[in-house]
Amino acid sequence: MPAGRRRYHNPVLSETLISGVKGTTNQVQDTQVLVVGAGPVGLTLALDLGRRGARCTLIERNSSTIQLPKMERCNARTMEIYRRLGIAERVRDAGLPRNAPMDVFLALSMADPPLAHLLCPSVAAAKAEIAAHNDGGLLEPYQLISQYTLEPLLRSIVETIPCVTVRFGCELVTFTQDANSVTAIVQTKDTAEETIRASYLVGCDGGSSTVRKQLGIQLQGEGNIRKLRQALFRCDDLYERIPMGKGRHYHIAEGPLFPFIILQDSTRHWTLHAGASSDAEMAEIFKKSLAMPIAFEMLSVNEWTQHLLCAERYGEGRVFVAGDAAHLVIPTGGLGMNTGVGDAVDLSWKLAATLAGWGGAQLLASYEAERRPIGLRNVEASRAAMTGRLGWRAAYHPNVRENTPEGAATRARMAGLFDVQQRKVTEILGIEAGYRYVDSPIVWREPGDGPDPDNPSYVPTTWPGARLPHVWVAEGAALHDRLGPGYTLLRLGGPKADTSSLEQSFREMCAPLDVLDVASKRARELYQYDLLLVRPDLHVVWRSNKLPQDAEKIAMVATGRLPSRI
Ligand SMILES: Cc1cc2nc3c(=O)[nH]c(=O)nc-3n(C[C@H](O)[C@H](O)[C@H](O)COP(=O)(O)OP(=O)(O)OC[C@H]3O[C@@H](n4cnc5c(N)ncnc54)[C@H](O)[C@@H]3O)c2cc1C
Repeated sequence: MPAGRRRYHNPVLSETLISGVKGTTNQVQDTQVLVVGAGPVGLTLALDLGRRGARCTLIERNSSTIQLPKMERCNARTMEIYRRLGIAERVRDAGLPRNAPMDVFLALSMADPPLAHLLCPSVAAAKAEIAAHNDGGLLEPYQLISQYTLEPLLRSIVETIPCVTVRFGCELVTFTQDANSVTAIVQTKDTAEETIRASYLVGCDGGSSTVRKQLGIQLQGEGNIRKLRQALFRCDDLYERIPMGKGRHYHIAEGPLFPFIILQDSTRHWTLHAGASSDAEMAEIFKKSLAMPIAFEMLSVNEWTQHLLCAERYGEGRVFVAGDAAHLVIPTGGLGMNTGVGDAVDLSWKLAATLAGWGGAQLLASYEAERRPIGLRNVEASRAAMTGRLGWRAAYHPNVRENTPEGAATRARMAGLFDVQQRKVTEILGIEAGYRYVDSPIVWREPGDGPDPDNPSYVPTTWPGARLPHVWVAEGAALHDRLGPGYTLLRLGGPKADTSSLEQSFREMCAPLDVLDVASKRARELYQYDLLLVRPDLHVVWRSNKLPQDAEKIAMVATGRLPSRI
């Protein structure tokens, strides 16, 4: 433990809720948390719960992780979270090579020069930028990794955690709950129904969530907006041969289908999205969009539907929903899985704290209070991103390819609009990482409104509820990496501040607290206060220059024993 750090820990996880033994068919199997669905959100939740020592069982109805392409970009906040979980570099090793540009293009075809070109740095370039600046930005840049690569990687990591049981080919059929537990009936292919009893159940079971439906929770918003086809191609030579340059997204200026070609992490695989009327048409559209003699193979085609929906509630009693089970966005802007990963790490420490016995009643209740507003906000950000895309597409005219003044005007109009509107998809770091838990019952209220929590640009702030901005405290040493898995009291004004009353309060509650003296002047400048209390998920609970008389109230709010009020 570094000098200047004191740590108070709850000695053991409470096992009082747990009884019974693991059994086979028709026997009761007990676990602390039953996670339903091993998509990226369920896997991340199980990983963080396991890391925190909570016993959990993860069930997945399919016999393997996803085979089809879906998401392909972990945003910067998800990568920060994965760094905290100790897996960021493994995700990068499995994903797109670090030096590959992430640029976005608009062109008449893959063989033509670009009409518009948005520069988006490679991971290596973005990391060099982050290393060179100490301005409170993000600690990690994004990472392109196909969902069909990410899920098996997460699965392989989760399967090594001793307190997590992973069961593929196991479907949740139904559940009931009472004051003390949840009883789930599950079904595998080869066995009769089994019963699993858990202290808590989390439905990470996707858009058609059984868990959400059984709780009678409605989705609100706009469903079934439009259907698109997605095809996966293997095309080994394309990446090296694109004359306009290497990038991530290629939009083809060809109405009314507007083919959209996305690079996958191998650089040999590509997806095409288009409103085609048949699977066979997808191959034709791809061939026409390439406009180069290159061999390719169409590996799969599937239909998917766009929605902008958020659940009216995020759970009931001992049962919660997270990820696509709680919100469905249009992937434009990449706020689907990434929002779900945020749900997972908000919920995991609260579940672990409650199971360990130090979490107060407000802790689990704060999950919905914190994450549902972010779900609603990200649905709106996704709508704005899609509206931006439709904005430049509206400038399309069939004369776009003509070598005439009118054709040139159409191209210029589309390019100009693309340059403005497409940035609503690629430049929304504030939405990705600047979210703040504005009305949370477990965050200390400061008078005033605070900075705009919906700003698309990221502006560092330590206003309570915000994620603690990243700061380098020494060459290559990030403060984030020094924060342990529990609460941290940062002392930035020198160790002279007497914080013993707050430390004593945490000790009495058996809640884990580190006290960390930070000598960095830059950290004090950025954070603006001498004292900050930071939660296990790195969101700020409270900040000030000195402790108040009734410091125990801060500990009670932070641990969910007393609702926060002004
Ligand atoms: C074309 C496309 C592109 C996308 N691009 C991006 C992107 O770039 N960035 C981004 O953030 N998001 C993107 N998304 C969205 C992203 O794929 C989803 O948000 C993400 O998969 C949600 O993860 P999840 O774990 O919540 O749910 P899912 O991935 O849907 O996983 C749910 C799991 O639960 C299982 N399950 C369901 N019912 C049961 C049951 N009763 N018992 C047991 N298991 C069950 C399912 O089999 C499934 O494996 C994209 C989506 C699409 C369609």
